[in-house]
Amino acid sequence: MNSPAPPIICTLAQHKKGSSSYTKMSYPVHCGIYSELSTRDFVFHFNLNNEIIRAKRKGGDWGHPHEWLKRTIGNDWVYYSTGGYTGVFEATGEYYLPNFRYPTNSILGGHPFRLKEVKDLSDNWHFLLQTIEESISFSTRQDSTTDRQRTFLKNVIEQSPEILKKRAKKLFDIIGGRISVLPPDARHVDYNLIPLTISRGCLYKCRFCKVKNNLPFTELSRADINSQLEQLKLLFDQDLPNYNSLYLGEHDALLSNHQLLLHSVEQGIETLELQNSNVHGNNTFLFGSVGSLLGAPTELFQQLEQLPGKVYINLGLESADQETLDHIGKPIKARDVVEAFHRSQEINRTFASIEITANFIMDGDLPTGHYPRILELIRDSLVHKKPKGTIYFSPLTFDQPSRARLFEFNKIKIVSRLPTHLYIIQRL
Ligand code: SF4
Repeated sequence: MNSPAPPIICTLAQHKKGSSSYTKMSYPVHCGIYSELSTRDFVFHFNLNNEIIRAKRKGGDWGHPHEWLKRTIGNDWVYYSTGGYTGVFEATGEYYLPNFRYPTNSILGGHPFRLKEVKDLSDNWHFLLQTIEESISFSTRQDSTTDRQRTFLKNVIEQSPEILKKRAKKLFDIIGGRISVLPPDARHVDYNLIPLTISRGCLYKCRFCKVKNNLPFTELSRADINSQLEQLKLLFDQDLPNYNSLYLGEHDALLSNHQLLLHSVEQGIETLELQNSNVHGNNTFLFGSVGSLLGAPTELFQQLEQLPGKVYINLGLESADQETLDHIGKPIKARDVVEAFHRSQEINRTFASIEITANFIMDGDLPTGHYPRILELIRDSLVHKKPKGTIYFSPLTFDQPSRARLFEFNKIKIVSRLPTHLYIIQRL
C-alpha cells in the first residue's frame, strides 16, 4: 500500500494590509487589502472577493524574487518582470516591465509566457490550490490551524477559472465591450481602475491605429452611465474599497458633452466610493484628442479642478509633421497638433490637479521631419524642464522588440524637457 503524500505546509495571512498608496519602488509594492497564501514553493494573493489576483513561484526556478504574475479584472495574466532593471525605469517610468499574452507594441523584454514555470503557474494555479486543499496540514502555529483558514481555501477554490472568466465577461457586458487600450497614465495606479464607458468610438479613424473600432463617436446617456455605475458597484462587491481610480472610456471621453463628463466623474467617485478607498487619493483617467482639447473651454478644466482627485487626460498627437500625419493616415493638420501641444502645456501650468499627457508614434520608416518637429515642441519650445505633461512614445509595430527603436527613444529622452517614457499598450 502506498503511503500518503506528505502534507503541503501553508501559511495564510487573511486581510493583509498592503500599501495605502501607489509608490514607485524598485521592489514590488502591493496596495490595498488582500489575502496571502504561501507554501514552500508558491505565493498566491487573493482580493476581498476571494479571487486570485497574483501568484509567483519561490526559489531558483523563478526568474527573480521581485517578479510576479498578476491577473487583471479583464482576466488577463500579466507577467511583471524586472527587465534586468537597467533602463526599465527610465524607459517606462516604472520599475517593472509588463509582459502580456496578447500582441502589443513593447520594444523591450522577452517572452516569459513561453517559460515552463510561468505558463504552468498561470494555467494551473487552480489545480495547485486544489492539491493544497487535499493535502492541507496547516502548521500548528496559532494563526494557521483554524477552520476559518480551511474555509478560506474552499472559498478561493470556488472562484474557479470558469467563474473568473464569466465575471470578466459580465464586466465587458456592463461597459459595452472589452477595452482595447488603457491610457498610459494608468501606470500610476498599476492599471487598477474601474472602467466606465461614457462615449464610444473616436473622431478620426486613423489608418495606422490598431486599437480603434468602427463606431462613430457617440455619447451615452446619463441614465446609462448611472446604471453602469450601479452594476459596477455590485460586480466589484467586497473588493470595491481596493480601488481609488476611474477610467472614462472609450477613445475620446474629452469629446463628450462637458456636463456629461463632469457628471460622470462626480457620480463615479460618489457611487463607487472612491474617496473611501483603502488606497489614498483618487484619480480619473481618460483619452482626449486634438479636436476635443482645442474645443474644450477653460471653464471645463476649472470645473474638473473643483472635483476630488487628480485627472489625467492622454492625447494621441502622433506627430507634428504633416507628411508623417498623412503617411500614417491621421486626418488632422500639423498646426492643430502644435496648438494642442501648447494648450496642454498651458493647462498643466494652470491646474494643479489636471495633467495632460501626449503620445507620439515611433517607427523605423517615418518621414524625416517627424522627430525634428517633435523636438521643436518638447525641447525647443520650453525654457526649463517640467515635472508634468509626460510625453509617451508609442511604437507602431507590434511584437517586435527593437534595439534601434530603443536607441532612438533614449536619444530623444535625454534632450526632452518633459518627462518622456514609452507607451506599452495594455488592454483591460
Ligand atoms: S488613434 Fe485615436 S483617433 Fe485615431 S483611430 Fe485610434 S483611437 Fe481613433
